[in-house]
Amino acid sequence: MKSYKEIIEEFSEARRNGFVEVKELKDQGKKVIGVYCGFAPWEILASNDVVVAWLCGMSEEPIPAAEKDLPRNSCPLLKSSYGFAITESCPYYYFSDMLIGETTCDGKKKMYEYLGQMKPMYIMSLPQNLRRESSFDYYKDELYLLKEAVEKVLDIEISEEDIRKNIIIRNNERKALREFYELGKLFPPPIWGFSMRKVLEATKYIADKENEIKNIKLLTESIKENYKLYGSEVPSEAKRILITGSPLGEATEKIIKIIEENGGVVVCYENCSSTKSIDDLVDEKKNAFDALAERYLKTACACMSPNDNRLNMINHYISKYKIDGVMDMVLYSCHTYNCETYRVKNICNKNNTPYMSIETDYSSKDIGQLTTRISAFIEMLD
Ligand code: SF4
Ligand code: SF4
Repeated sequence: MKSYKEIIEEFSEARRNGFVEVKELKDQGKKVIGVYCGFAPWEILASNDVVVAWLCGMSEEPIPAAEKDLPRNSCPLLKSSYGFAITESCPYYYFSDMLIGETTCDGKKKMYEYLGQMKPMYIMSLPQNLRRESSFDYYKDELYLLKEAVEKVLDIEISEEDIRKNIIIRNNERKALREFYELGKLFPPPIWGFSMRKVLEATKYIADKENEIKNIKLLTESIKENYKLYGSEVPSEAKRILITGSPLGEATEKIIKIIEENGGVVVCYENCSSTKSIDDLVDEKKNAFDALAERYLKTACACMSPNDNRLNMINHYISKYKIDGVMDMVLYSCHTYNCETYRVKNICNKNNTPYMSIETDYSSKDIGQLTTRISAFIEMLD
């Protein structure tokens, strides 16, 4: 039987293995849709055995190429996504038959227009105020339009039955992942936040969801068993940190490393592709489009206004995960998350939970300065 460390190691390889897998699936005649955002409804896109691939946008390498077309002071995620596309260095982009974008932040909207000149692109028009009753109908309409657009571009038919099947699969994935990341509630947590993040990130690149769910469950069981027998690999005095803010990725893993090399442990991630995208399930009993609209409109993204869901989630996690300190990671030029730091700080103050915000990009130039600031923050936590 594999140890939990071996299983985590296998998950870490998922992105690289996914490159080969997506090529093989393409060779077998499967269609591929590339997505960029947590608002893309996998349940509709993955119908008809379509492979839904998360497109790369988390490394520094393609940024110089992107800066030839985009302003240098755009956010690194935006530039990296665009750079990967124009240099065709993201295999997932290369094999995509169609791309899905959303009207989230202004920079992304404009960048999607450019990508639309290179590949068939559907930009979902999102409501901006998720509390309005009309937003529900607006988003639901968008889901129907998206379905039609995908059917037309890929020359397929998407049935409600297929979407229902996918709702169940995705819910099962969410449940399995939730059980996994909720291990962070244990005291001390059984594994480092860096390992937890590797697994959460990996799931974006695994096409075979049934197999992924099986392996996540196996991993969770194996970690629990090991914890019972041998305790934790994390010292009990490590300060429990919640990370929130702009999406995390390969290049910003430096923040997690700095925290965990300086007396902290990340026990909860609120960012996209973590609790934000996983915590809530889609109602399996309702009409599929109603249920999807209801679920996706809960996405606690700073591009929405007001974004009370995010504040409520942070409030809830501070107590559930017994958080010692909150780290708000904002990418340079990410104005939505940057402006929201004020509200996040206030919520933390109300909870008497120390708060720190940091701005960073995908380079390693600021590692020294970040280490000084983050280690000082952790040192002053009770
Ligand atoms: S943070 Fe918002 S805009 Fe960015 S990927 Fe997540 S849902 Fe999309
Ligand atoms: S990180 Fe912020 S600025 Fe960059 S694409 Fe996402 S929401 Fe937009």
